[in-house]
Amino acid sequence: MVVVFLGPPGSGKGTQAARLAARAGIPHIATGDMLRSAVKNGTELGRRAGAIMDAGELVPDDIMIGLIRERIASEDCKKGFVLDGFPRTAAQAEALERLLAEKGFGLDAAVNLDVDENRLIERMKGRSLAEGRSDDNPETIRTRLEEYRRKTAPLAAWFDRKGILVNLDGTGSVDDVARAVGGALARLDTASARPRQGAA
Ligand code: AMP
Repeated sequence: MVVVFLGPPGSGKGTQAARLAARAGIPHIATGDMLRSAVKNGTELGRRAGAIMDAGELVPDDIMIGLIRERIASEDCKKGFVLDGFPRTAAQAEALERLLAEKGFGLDAAVNLDVDENRLIERMKGRSLAEGRSDDNPETIRTRLEEYRRKTAPLAAWFDRKGILVNLDGTGSVDDVARAVGGALARLDTASARPRQGAA
């Protein structure tokens, strides 16, 4: 199973992606976490990405695509994975499609969590206090939402055209949203298992 989580910063996609991955027994691949760990470890990637992340902007596509290409080539990704924070641009979405095709994988679903903007800002401010993320300050939050609106939100329509978009309300409790995710994926599963009309 390969599932992608879309949704703006603060929508809870990280929490939900982790839950789903644990339930399915497959890796949770969070590009933001990978980048933060590279920054912490002072690697070449971290040096290139740190300032961009602190500004709330997107790290260049070629870096991100290379990172994902390498990550999904590992042994633990053989049975699938849950992507959290990738793709974030049209170029990344197209690259993902190519990478999956090379591995003989299909993309099962793109889950889009919808949360009202005021609530997103409140959540990110709360997270800043709890986790001390350097990009959860008011100025950077604005840039991240703007980057999301301009570059990532349009991907929903792209996935919808492919028939795999799942739009869910991300406002409820973690448990409620997790149940909605599970239900929606089960429905997609049943739909794709059903023989197409006219096929015999
Ligand atoms: P996140 O933890 O997913 O909110 O990501 C934190 C930051 O990492 C983002 O604001 C971007 O600067 C960077 N980042 C994470 N994933 C990507 C991606 N797929 N493309 C570009 N930048 C990314």
